[in-house]
Amino acid sequence: MKFTKTLIAELLISASVIGFVLPAVAAEPMVQTQQQEKPNVVILATGGTIAGAAADKTNTTTYKAGALGIDTLLAAVPEIHDVANVKGEQVAQISSNSMTTEIWLKLAKRINELLKNPDVDGIVITHGTDTLEETAYFLNLVTKSDKPVILVGAMRPATAISADGPLNLLNAVKLASDKDAKGKGVLIVLNDTINGARDATKTNTLRVDTFQSPELGYLGYMEGGKPVFYKQTTRKHTNETEFDVTDLNDLPRVDIIYSHVDDDGKMAEAAVAAGAKGIVHAGTGNGSIHGRTAPALYEASKKGIPVVRSSHASNGPTIENSAAYTENGLIDSGTLNPQKARILLQLGLTKTNDPAKLSEMFKKY
Ligand code: ASP
Repeated sequence: MKFTKTLIAELLISASVIGFVLPAVAAEPMVQTQQQEKPNVVILATGGTIAGAAADKTNTTTYKAGALGIDTLLAAVPEIHDVANVKGEQVAQISSNSMTTEIWLKLAKRINELLKNPDVDGIVITHGTDTLEETAYFLNLVTKSDKPVILVGAMRPATAISADGPLNLLNAVKLASDKDAKGKGVLIVLNDTINGARDATKTNTLRVDTFQSPELGYLGYMEGGKPVFYKQTTRKHTNETEFDVTDLNDLPRVDIIYSHVDDDGKMAEAAVAAGAKGIVHAGTGNGSIHGRTAPALYEASKKGIPVVRSSHASNGPTIENSAAYTENGLIDSGTLNPQKARILLQLGLTKTNDPAKLSEMFKKY
């Protein structure tokens, strides 16, 4: 089914009764509502399923992500205006599996600029769920404010029966408006649960309760429409990091090598040949490396291309487990999964390629 403009328009009309898309109401101008002493929240939209449109309302799996703009999403949840003065900006309109460094840097710079403004109390980012955890962790390391920065997505498109986006978006604005969300790093809210950017991961391909922080747990819940926190991370974030995107136009290339039976080091060699400045090895168990792959990784490390050991096991830390790994300068990822270890290594490489210094960063962030 092709998503022509006419088809999407028809869908929006038919879905308006049940889903995300209600008759358009203009986003409330910030100036007008500031008089009511509500918090001021800016919503930066990037696309994703939360802005997705399907060919019919029973279809929750085959749809166009990012089809709807931020004004349409806002118009569908007028209750948001009782919570905060909101202003939407469309930063990108993509399915997040195609997220790029360019969009990350644009987002991070815009967030830092907005949060310097004393009139802005918090930020919400609407995002596809596929790479939401990566964007959240990147922003957790580079945004410079203790004001709330909240990522939100949805698992069902806006046109679906029981779309999860509207309530998620309302919850995100509530969280971004709440003083208790300050100083906790970048947060993720979906399905009434609040996760920290560092520990959360997408655990399920289809279900609405996909975001979990395995073993380490949620930071809190939306309870009766209000955020309630039970814990927070001990790892440094936002104002406390050494990373600064102000003058960055790109990030160093870091490739992830996924270990498996019969692995032979060819992918590691290919990464070096492709110009990788760092490698994350998604190993087995406690970051173990196939005997045939280890020499290629040691070689990379000797050439000044730092190698981080992570794991494709879904829980537990990757810690030192072999003298050879340590002697060859391989860095342990701790509980960071491979895709998050990649982000920290990229940012670390903007400062140093010394494995000892990078290793310190993996203990700190
Ligand atoms: N592919 C979609 C995206 O990440 C999935 C989603 O948003 O849930 O944009």
